[in-house]
Amino acid sequence: MKNLIIKMLVGNDQIRLYMADQTELVRKVYQMNERVPAVPKLLLAQTLSLMGILTGTLKGNQRLSLALSMSDRTQKISADADARGNIRGYLNEALFDMQECQYGSTHDLIGPRGMLRMVKGNDLHQYTSITDMPAQNIAEDFARHFMQSDQTLTHFAAPVRLGPDGEPISAHAIYAQLLPGASPELLDELKRTLGAERELLDEIKAGNFTGSEEALQKVFKDMKLIGTSECRFFCGCTRELFIGLLQSLGKEEISKTIKDNRTIETFCHVCGKRYSFMAEEVVSLM
Ligand SMILES: [Zn+2]
Repeated sequence: MKNLIIKMLVGNDQIRLYMADQTELVRKVYQMNERVPAVPKLLLAQTLSLMGILTGTLKGNQRLSLALSMSDRTQKISADADARGNIRGYLNEALFDMQECQYGSTHDLIGPRGMLRMVKGNDLHQYTSITDMPAQNIAEDFARHFMQSDQTLTHFAAPVRLGPDGEPISAHAIYAQLLPGASPELLDELKRTLGAERELLDEIKAGNFTGSEEALQKVFKDMKLIGTSECRFFCGCTRELFIGLLQSLGKEEISKTIKDNRTIETFCHVCGKRYSFMAEEVVSLM
């Protein structure tokens, strides 16, 4: 099951509203970062959930890349997304290898000097924009970023519901953009509606499009469906690819690594996946 993005117009056709069930995506992020403390893991999941819904705004060969720097500049999250709905992203090593987390919330982890850097474009044209993160909240600071870079009033949300074991039960993403000329009050009204209709998110399920559409229609009487799209976590890396890379290091380099450790650890810098190899496994193939 993929993550479904439902796209619609609401508020008398003056707000473009996208809602997505990101449960599958967030579960994948949690699986891939199993040993990471809860706070950085949640921030990565929310970041990728938002990047996922933004794939629905990209066209043709457009890409969107994000670098999120915490107040502690050694700590970063990177992510990118394309118009086909593919998203990748990872915690840098300072966050991934964190044994104990001194931060009690994502707000504290981002800290007062967090920074968002986004690059949007295709191979020919790219546009970079950088903003700070005064809200210390990824969704609110995304909205601020779009206000500053595109002069569009937007609303983002990326709620993740965790079970008592700390594992995700459900995750959703919301993107709402006020269309040019419309009154900002419409967006405030939408936020109030979304806040009051808390059960709505439970009804948005990737596997039940008809049910989701009906639930949305009940809340947004004038909603017009404009389309759907899907997003997914995707990186093309494989274990075999890494064996090939290790072998290209040459015997000498590898035997140096083997002396120190029985296993060789590799790390995909695109998706953050780790592959470990027994030293014998690499050598036997040479
Ligand atoms: Zn990868």
